[in-house]
Amino acid sequence: MTASRDTLVRWDDRHVWHPFTPHDAYRDEDPLMIVGGEGNELIDADGRRLLDGVASLWCNVFGHRRPEIDAAIRQQLDRIAHATFLGNASAPAVELAKRLVDLAPDPLSRCFFSDDGSTAVEVALKMALQFHGQSGVAGGARRKRVLSLDLAYHGDTLGAVSVGGIDLFHSTFGPLLFERLSVPSPHCYRCPIGSDLEPATCGLACAEEAVARIMRSGPELAAVIVEPGLQGAGGMIVQPPGFLSAVAEATQRAGALLIADEVAVGFGRSAEAMFACQREGVSPDLLCLGKGLTGGYLPMAATLATERVFDAFRGRPAEGRTFFHGHTFTGNALAAAAGLATLDIFEAEDVLRGLPAKAEALDRELDRVRSLPGVGDVRRYGLAVGIELVADTTTRRSFPAEERRGMRVCRHAVRNGVFLRPLGDVVVLMPPLSITDAEIVRLVDAVEAGIRAEVPGGA
Ligand SMILES: *Cc1c(COP(=O)(O)O)cnc(C)c1O
Repeated sequence: MTASRDTLVRWDDRHVWHPFTPHDAYRDEDPLMIVGGEGNELIDADGRRLLDGVASLWCNVFGHRRPEIDAAIRQQLDRIAHATFLGNASAPAVELAKRLVDLAPDPLSRCFFSDDGSTAVEVALKMALQFHGQSGVAGGARRKRVLSLDLAYHGDTLGAVSVGGIDLFHSTFGPLLFERLSVPSPHCYRCPIGSDLEPATCGLACAEEAVARIMRSGPELAAVIVEPGLQGAGGMIVQPPGFLSAVAEATQRAGALLIADEVAVGFGRSAEAMFACQREGVSPDLLCLGKGLTGGYLPMAATLATERVFDAFRGRPAEGRTFFHGHTFTGNALAAAAGLATLDIFEAEDVLRGLPAKAEALDRELDRVRSLPGVGDVRRYGLAVGIELVADTTTRRSFPAEERRGMRVCRHAVRNGVFLRPLGDVVVLMPPLSITDAEIVRLVDAVEAGIRAEVPGGA
């Protein structure tokens, strides 16, 4: 870095357009200028060290400047940084494909690379649509529709937005989108079907509703897409046990493909399994991976498919059964090397075995937050947490959006050395899997202090 902090800030204000950022509030909300990182901490231009409480937007797995991943990228750099994957192969990505297929639930057997979570979803949607047209199964050509959950988030490209269910993000682009079939989100705290049942029962009612809608749309359904276990960007909505397996079973009975979008929850986030589907013994037809795939180092994503799906695309060139989709940087060698090193760490340190204890430690610390005034709901899924702030804990009334309560709590945490970024009034904790017990306490301390300072007592 050659420019000074002040120069960078000036250029940032003049020339940069940030994602998901209302720019009139940007500078006032004390954005960080990151210049380094070490372990689970970020280092900013003032030399401040901040715990990375959202894993650099949910992708960092084992901390920053992790020696094994750094070394793997350097070694790959001495061979080649990138070569095309279109009609050709490049070594580290082939190895990564094999490793991913071995880890994923059977019968996923093929790996298609792309560059980010949104493209992994685009690929899955296009595969599903084309699959039915050429699978040879009677009625396949009529299967053109996709069903997704309300409050779903599958990325920001237009196909992914079409199956998204967050009005604030998605409604503007309505005219450009294809129409999705929808199912209520199993959001027990804000029950969409208006039941005042206990969460366990309510969750089952939501599953029944989902199954009924899937069966009703049966013959026209190409695919059902779902974020297994946890709807992330929609507000950290934890699905009741049994919901995913009920949806999976109905999807299969309806003759549609199940797309599991594990961009956020894959790679151990559930704290119980490598992939969240495995928690419920579900085997999707298509599995979307991103974020943690390279340890959070480089952009790379993957869509895994079963041999049955792949078979429908086989054929001589003239038959036109090819999947006509690909990106310039597909199968990037540096990213694949980072991915392989990440999987090596999972294996060498038997990471998955240590995660339940970490998730429990986090849960115990969260007890301090659950009882705070203004905290309506604390939802945890493995090592992912959403803390929903409300103006009134009895009626569950929200704060006016312009008060930006979630953002205020996160800014307070940043001042206390913990980097957080909210989803509206849901404060998100999504630390690297490598977070230590001491760092879990530091994380929750900062959230607790932030809520005490920035959220008026709920009634
Ligand atoms: C983040 C996310 C995406 C989009 O990934 P990008 O890499 O940001 O394009 C898709 N699906 C889910 C569930 C996500 O959390």
